[in-house]
Amino acid sequence: MPVSVNSALPSATDLARAVQVRETTPQTLLSDTLARLDAAQNLNALISLNEGAAQQADAVQARVLAGETLPLAGVPIIVKDNINVRGTRTTCGSRILAHYTSPYDATVARRLMQAGAVIVGKANMDEFAMGSSTESSANGPTLNPWDTARVPGGSSGGSAVAVAAQLTPVSLGSDTGGSVRQPAAFTGVYGLKPTYGRVSRFGLVAYASSLDQIGPFARSAEDLALIMNVIAGHDPQDATSLHAPPEFVAGTPDDLRGLRVGVIRESLEGNTAGVESTLNTTLDALRGAGASVQEVSIASLRHAIAAYYLIAMPEASSNLARYDGMTYGDRNTPGADVNTSMTLTREHGFGREVQRRILIGTYALSSGYYDAYYSKAMKIRGLIAQEFARAFADFDVLVTPTSPFPAFRRGEKSSDPLAMYAADVDTVAINLAGLPALSVPAGFETIDGVRLPVGIQFIAPTLKDELLLTLAGGLEGVGAVQMDAPAGY
Ligand code: GLN
Repeated sequence: MPVSVNSALPSATDLARAVQVRETTPQTLLSDTLARLDAAQNLNALISLNEGAAQQADAVQARVLAGETLPLAGVPIIVKDNINVRGTRTTCGSRILAHYTSPYDATVARRLMQAGAVIVGKANMDEFAMGSSTESSANGPTLNPWDTARVPGGSSGGSAVAVAAQLTPVSLGSDTGGSVRQPAAFTGVYGLKPTYGRVSRFGLVAYASSLDQIGPFARSAEDLALIMNVIAGHDPQDATSLHAPPEFVAGTPDDLRGLRVGVIRESLEGNTAGVESTLNTTLDALRGAGASVQEVSIASLRHAIAAYYLIAMPEASSNLARYDGMTYGDRNTPGADVNTSMTLTREHGFGREVQRRILIGTYALSSGYYDAYYSKAMKIRGLIAQEFARAFADFDVLVTPTSPFPAFRRGEKSSDPLAMYAADVDTVAINLAGLPALSVPAGFETIDGVRLPVGIQFIAPTLKDELLLTLAGGLEGVGAVQMDAPAGY
């Protein structure tokens, strides 16, 4: 199967099949991927290449020739730079980890390689996954291939762009408050945030541990199912990981018949015209396929942003205490006393947004303020989870836009933290409640003459991740998924 740069990239499912029947080799797919990455360097989607990739490709080929059947045989994949892959740098987009090389594999990396995937490189991201635009990386911003003056969303912007620009068919990101779903929406691909605990977090660098979850980007429901079947499952090395993953399968239009779809009323305001019309078109398609669609209110959602940031920042302030220049990462001023050394290391190593969050997080946890902020936020978190559970008594799946607007311009929100936080209005509550949610590329909005993708978010009850793939397959079958490629990629 000859594949050339700038031609449509076959799906992961097709690539694996082609390797398995010896129509192509993992080595050919790897060199094709490197050529694609080279041609798309301007997008700055990657932080580093995996120098062990060629060796991985050889090993996969040997296993295929020995008769092994591998679900991801030779499939090139990119993972976010907060996922450890032994022998590669894991910088988390931060200066403080610029020279850190992973001594071990994250469970997802191990599972991918066992399944025959070749990890080609590490994707650019907002520093420590704190952001919604991939502008805060120490490696510079990632550009959106639909309009390079715009952000690709974040924090997993590099992983989203890798799939949108057809550099690799699938990739992995992490989602603490929307970081897989929102960049998927901004770049026009699928992005899945699994149920909390569905995918092991062992080897994922922690941002906010009670919210973090690894999730895939892909261009088809079939590929999403393929990769979920590889990465989901119990891991004794992650105490929060859950047992018994279901079999993930892409559905058909028949699966939409009788589906009870609830549209969250609180998400219907403040959307751009294109987001609104995309939502309506999607709902019409669902009705046309025999689903019932009704509005449902989840009143506590109006507190979701405040609660999310008052939980994420305290957790971050605690998780990031380990970067003290003693155990991990770079150290400034060797020879200075411990306090000075730690202070200077953190001052030089962390960017502004990370410092802001450590300060706010520490403040919100401090004695006298804990009750006023952190503990109140935790009560709201409980309320949100309860309200979702109540809604799922009447509905199989809930729906909102993934973001109130398509990709915004670079620089538009980077100097206004509150505006950046507010951009997460549709995604953060899902992490607070631990639910699975999928952003589906469902339409386009033309802004200033540029055609920009729009994503619609589907939310399922806890541990019903598989329903989202059933639904995605059904939507593809009725023509409600708008998967396209940006010009030139
Ligand atoms: N934008 C959100 C934040 O900055 C979510 C980030 C994420 O999901 N990693 O916290």
